[in-house]
Amino acid sequence: MLKENLTEVEANVQTACEKSNRDRKDVTLIAVSKTKPAAMLQEIYDAGVRDFGENKVQEICEKYDQLPHDIRWHMIGHLQRNKVRQIIDKVCMIHSVDTYRLAEEINIQAKKHNLVMPVLIEVNIAQEDTKFGVRKEDAILLAEEISHLTNVQVQGLMAVAPYVDNPEDNRKYFQEIKQLAVDIKNKNLDNVLMCKLSMGMTGDYAVAIEEGASMVRVGTAIFGARDYGKNK
Ligand SMILES: *Cc1c(COP(=O)(O)O)cnc(C)c1O
Repeated sequence: MLKENLTEVEANVQTACEKSNRDRKDVTLIAVSKTKPAAMLQEIYDAGVRDFGENKVQEICEKYDQLPHDIRWHMIGHLQRNKVRQIIDKVCMIHSVDTYRLAEEINIQAKKHNLVMPVLIEVNIAQEDTKFGVRKEDAILLAEEISHLTNVQVQGLMAVAPYVDNPEDNRKYFQEIKQLAVDIKNKNLDNVLMCKLSMGMTGDYAVAIEEGASMVRVGTAIFGARDYGKNK
């Protein structure tokens, strides 16, 4: 059943790429597996997916031990500074950097492991109170500050668009994120690439791809609805 879901998502990704004249290889499908058991991840892994997204440190650590080590784990949730050291050598990218203090801690821990951690700056694109992320107008400053950290590399922006019934309603936000990335790129900051845009979820990933997403984070459409009640 999961395989069928994945096939359907993959077809939609392909269609969105064709519609916008994009190369399928330039879009990474991240399977967002939060709250789902390792066996379900394994099923999707066996179908060929290597990029998985999680939003909790403990869950990444547990699944990291249970699943194959060629999985690329993406930290997509709010990250507390005191937990950075637990995932620094396990994840391939941290999508949710929204303060300099967090970037600083990532830098310290990355240094200890002799690695450079790719990160994205999370932008609260619709200025929703309930969401993390910097305001659009503060993203450039944060990118500038982080550019001085030797063991952190800003590769782009991440956004969680509002929950909407009609994905077209989010098109304008995806366009804004894309434009913001272009503006920051034009500053030519050392160590800041701005080549990656992490945007689009189950409800709106096709539109996000049409507007330039390089990573889409899809959970429900692959794994089914999440049941938060059971695991608490
Ligand atoms: C849970 C989550 C997703 C996946 O959401 P779906 O609607 O299930 O696809 C994507 N991004 C972030 C940051 C998430 O927390």
